[in-house]
Amino acid sequence: MSNNISVNVGLDERSYTITIKPGLLDQTLELLKERIDQRRCLLISDSHVYSLYGARVEQKLRELGAEVTSSIFPEGEANKHLATMGAIYHDAVKAGLNRKSLIVALGGGVSGDIAGFAAATYMRGIEFIQVPTSLLAMVDSSVGGKTGVDLPEGKNLVGAFWQPKAVIIDPKMLTTLDMREVRCGLAEIVKYAVIIDEELFEILQNNLGKLLSLDLNFYAQIIARCCKIKAKIVAEDEREAGIRALLNYGHTFGHAIEQVANFSIGHGEGVAIGMCMAAELAVKLGLCTAEVQQKQHILLKALGLPCSTNLDPAAIREAMKSDKKNTDGTTVVVLPRNIGQAEVINDAPGAMILDAIKQHSSFNA
Ligand code: NAD
Repeated sequence: MSNNISVNVGLDERSYTITIKPGLLDQTLELLKERIDQRRCLLISDSHVYSLYGARVEQKLRELGAEVTSSIFPEGEANKHLATMGAIYHDAVKAGLNRKSLIVALGGGVSGDIAGFAAATYMRGIEFIQVPTSLLAMVDSSVGGKTGVDLPEGKNLVGAFWQPKAVIIDPKMLTTLDMREVRCGLAEIVKYAVIIDEELFEILQNNLGKLLSLDLNFYAQIIARCCKIKAKIVAEDEREAGIRALLNYGHTFGHAIEQVANFSIGHGEGVAIGMCMAAELAVKLGLCTAEVQQKQHILLKALGLPCSTNLDPAAIREAMKSDKKNTDGTTVVVLPRNIGQAEVINDAPGAMILDAIKQHSSFNA
């Protein structure tokens, strides 16, 4: 166990540890024995992840002294909605969960967001731990306490800030993840590099082989680096009053793309295209050079990520208007200044935003 990589998220009495160790999920869960022992536990997972890892995690939790019930929902972003929440609350009551009970989120970002929101709201809030299984969830969504679900009107419009008590990451779980989903996680890693970590950008550029061949020890290092970045940002600005907003780079465009595509496009794919549109806009506004835009484009392409869409630019622009970060009718976007440096912009002209979208759309009316 001495080889565990641990990252602390410093939030005073709500601080917690992220533990990363390839291949040792069971042993890592043992670190939480005191938290798990004698407790009623609801394992929340999507149908796909549950079929792969559910029995193993249930068994381990029982070995550690928990009384376990599972609540499973159909996989996919299209199920990250209020009806799923309703079913989970009923399962929680049926399982006899009380205020001392524990929720365990097992899965990608969808499972984590749903399970975290259930934990935040069931009996006005109970404890939960995150066991992220997708790359995107390991590097981003399982850390930081944003939880919630989508409405037909937009992504993540209902939710709560609710921090987990621990995050347990086993990069070996990536071996069962579809390569398309691995790429989605890579998009979030590129995001960190562009907004704040130039050295990480170079590491990614120089290690494409390790990334694409799923070198697990390399991934453990990269995941830890991303978790450290996120932990630092969250510790500084938990409620997104300032620097945390930078983590939305590519997301205002990306969420709109996901929504217009009816979630047939992955979150990370939307973010990748969104980062290309954001860089395009940054160049148009004179905030960064075309060279920065090009560097990002080359890296995203080398990782097999999309840089354009065939969706209607006007529909994307329209969907961006319902983004919850907007205030008083302005669209808030995060734009790069350089590799490793970004800024929140709230006065980009709408016509220029639309133009940037058009540059990355092959839509023919
Ligand atoms: P997801 O949870 O739907 O997982 C993607 C797919 O991979 C699913 O089909 C899932 O069943 C499968 N999967 C997951 N782990 C697997 C594994 N180890 N082996 C095989 N299959 C596996 O989606 P995601 O991409 O992980 O997360 C996207 C979601 O995260 C979005 O809803 C987004 O809004 C949210 N998000 C939240 C935050 C946050 O801070 N809370 C940050 C970024 C993204």
